[in-house]
Amino acid sequence: MSVSSVSSLAAAPSVCAPLSVLGRDVTVPLVTGGEVTYAALDYAASAPALQRVWDDVAAYAPYYGSVHRGAGYLSQLSTDLFENARRTVAAFLDCREDDQLVFTRSTTDSLNLLAAALPAGCQVFVFETEHHASLLPWREAHVTYLDAPRTPAEAVATLERALADRDPHGPALVCVTGASNVTGEIWPVRELAASAHAHGARIVLDAAQLAPHHPVSVQDLDVDWVAFSGHKLYAPFGSGVLAGRADWLRQADPYLAGGGASRKVTRRTDGGVDVEWHETAARHEAGSPNVIGAYAVASACKALTEAGFDTLVAREQHLIDTVRAGLAEVPEVRVLSLFGDDAPRVGVISFVVEGWNSSHFAAALSAEYGIGVRDGLFCAHPLVRTLLGSDPQTQGECGAPEAAPGEKSLNAIRVSFGAGT
Ligand code: PLP
Repeated sequence: MSVSSVSSLAAAPSVCAPLSVLGRDVTVPLVTGGEVTYAALDYAASAPALQRVWDDVAAYAPYYGSVHRGAGYLSQLSTDLFENARRTVAAFLDCREDDQLVFTRSTTDSLNLLAAALPAGCQVFVFETEHHASLLPWREAHVTYLDAPRTPAEAVATLERALADRDPHGPALVCVTGASNVTGEIWPVRELAASAHAHGARIVLDAAQLAPHHPVSVQDLDVDWVAFSGHKLYAPFGSGVLAGRADWLRQADPYLAGGGASRKVTRRTDGGVDVEWHETAARHEAGSPNVIGAYAVASACKALTEAGFDTLVAREQHLIDTVRAGLAEVPEVRVLSLFGDDAPRVGVISFVVEGWNSSHFAAALSAEYGIGVRDGLFCAHPLVRTLLGSDPQTQGECGAPEAAPGEKSLNAIRVSFGAGT
């Protein structure tokens, strides 16, 4: 088996694209000489920004100013655009009327913000299969880590059992991913939310991999919060979103202390300082916010909505079927899956190639074919180890050395794409 028989799969996603992404025509040098048009197949890490987003940002750039506090025309314009961006993203997520939407830096930032806002005594339930961004922020709380389920129904049953054992009087939070960044499989979010609520718990959806590919409705899924990252949803780096119930966010200390979060600051007679914090999203947006980033996320949300998720999902499904069928023809390839072949999925596919070191394979795809994929454990170490059947004690770090010949793979290769491929 050669790298080229797998790399020919990259030619598949060339049918007409409904979303126009930047960098489509970038050429890269090959070690074998010459150059080739780059095939970006690492959307799960960061999707290329849409041309439309870049154009919108360029059109706004000459007018941007500081928000919320400036009296000048450009400050007021920017404040309007920033707050409109908040409304656009809230509409994109189909938030409830009284939800709060906080602009953050990323999904990681959003989930850490929620972790910092947990009420006292909150119990957290999270599957071991999560990306580290949703696995790790809760470690200061009382966390129950749930074993990897092998079917969506088992996921719901596992959560049911764990919640049934909890103290029903205290607050509890379930954190679940919408689509796996390793297998691309879509999780039964609505059912998990129903189970959480039936047991008096709340639920936060990590939609980092779901929102760029499928419509996410807070109301329809009945989740309490949702988090996603702009840079995976065809906007540039640096902005993310946490949207959902206002009460826990309003009761919590500001995520960052500083200007913008504070409504009134006074000196006390004993020399100290008293602060009244805002109760709006501003409470958790201290400092000068990333206005361009919020504007770019809103632009990407509009572009996806206008392209229509029906069209985007159908196109992506065609790409998924093409790539999976191609991989199935290569006997040495083993695609990693928790829920099996029939599970609904987004355009994220991880695999190992028998006889190949995954890191060498990924490097060869780049150097010899100009195809950018990812290798490693994808910031989901427990899940990848479970899927590879490898021993958690003996290995596994990002960039860790590979298995010796004849041993099980220690890491994997991931191709990921979307309807803007
Ligand atoms: N959650 C999932 C499922 C992800 O795939 C990722 C990133 O790959 C994250 C969270 C973290 O996103 P970010 O790095 O933008 O914070």
